[in-house]
Amino acid sequence: MLETLNPQPQDKILQLIAMYRDDPRDTKIDLGVGVYKDATGLTPVMRAVKAAEKRLWEVEVTKSYTGLAGEPAYNAAMVGMILGAGFAERAASVATPGGTGAIRQALELIKMASPGATVWLSNPTWPNHPSIIKYLGMKMAEYRYFDAETRGVDFAGVLEDLGKVAKGDIVLLHGCCHNPTGANFTADQWAQVAGVLEARGAIPFIDLAYQGFGDGLEEDAAATRMIATRFPEVLIAASCSKNFGIYRERTGVLIALTDPARRAVVQGNLAFLNRQNYSFPPDHGARLVTMILEDDALRADWKAELEEVRLNMLTLRKTLAEELRKATNSDRFDFVADHRGMFSRLGLTEAQVAVLRETHGIYMVGDSRINIAGLNARTVPILAAAIAKVAG
Ligand code: PMP
Repeated sequence: MLETLNPQPQDKILQLIAMYRDDPRDTKIDLGVGVYKDATGLTPVMRAVKAAEKRLWEVEVTKSYTGLAGEPAYNAAMVGMILGAGFAERAASVATPGGTGAIRQALELIKMASPGATVWLSNPTWPNHPSIIKYLGMKMAEYRYFDAETRGVDFAGVLEDLGKVAKGDIVLLHGCCHNPTGANFTADQWAQVAGVLEARGAIPFIDLAYQGFGDGLEEDAAATRMIATRFPEVLIAASCSKNFGIYRERTGVLIALTDPARRAVVQGNLAFLNRQNYSFPPDHGARLVTMILEDDALRADWKAELEEVRLNMLTLRKTLAEELRKATNSDRFDFVADHRGMFSRLGLTEAQVAVLRETHGIYMVGDSRINIAGLNARTVPILAAAIAKVAG
């Protein structure tokens, strides 16, 4: 049987990690992989997470199974963090292994409820979106998103393409901090997008993987909350990997907003999907998140550290934009300071990306996406000078 399998194409980011690892130069800079790093290059365990782990070790008396949908307290805490108060009656939710698990369950729910629906993705988007949709054999389409000239959102393209969405189609939107571009809708643009989707009878599906990494914990949820208020049905796949720094604990949630009268059936279907795929979702990360969100002191400390992380990335953006102004003697790269989240797509060619890697030891994804958090005060001017050399 297994002899029928073909080799899978190598994952581009994993390939990049291997090339970086094998590069002997001690001046090399890794702007590839999508994890937050502090100025020393460490992806730290957050203070509140450490404190919650210690407390959990003291109070935990059993590791017996949790509920099929996860612990109700976790789901409620996540609905509260993402949507604020007032959605409990409409929200069905399940704990999932990371944001990826939530996306996968959302897509399977769509497939169960509406097998013929097309899922619309921004072009570009996180490569795992089309990959899972393809694997599930679902229909997909793309809407234009990125303006290669301005490196901002091609909003005319967005409106034109979303104007072609059919009734009942699903439109996947990045709730904040678009991956891979870093370019995001303004509040006014979000309202216009909501208007088009309403007019077309589409169902919004929001991927929220970076709440707290863009403009703030509440600010980054504003678009999701607006959509949640305006639409009768919304799917939200959220990840705790980044904002709690618990990448390997696999902690996410899928929320399906529906009519209160239908909530119990939707909830039952979400639990059914968990049962089919892995039975009980992982609990350790979810429990830490619940402890932090429910405890005033832990929550305050977590929020303060998340804000440090966010402001660190914002400072790096500002200094990189300034250094690029100096190095290129132009304002062509000012967009770096306007982008939000961990990533920016610089708009370099594949050949320029290759020169940066081979000649300068600077590693970024082939589409010229950089991880801002891979930089520090020392490396920002080095990157700016190298970019000016290859693209100045
Ligand atoms: N959505 C987007 C846009 C992402 O960038 C990521 C992580 N790279 C995820 C979802 C899922 O994250 P995880 O499964 O690690 O929680």
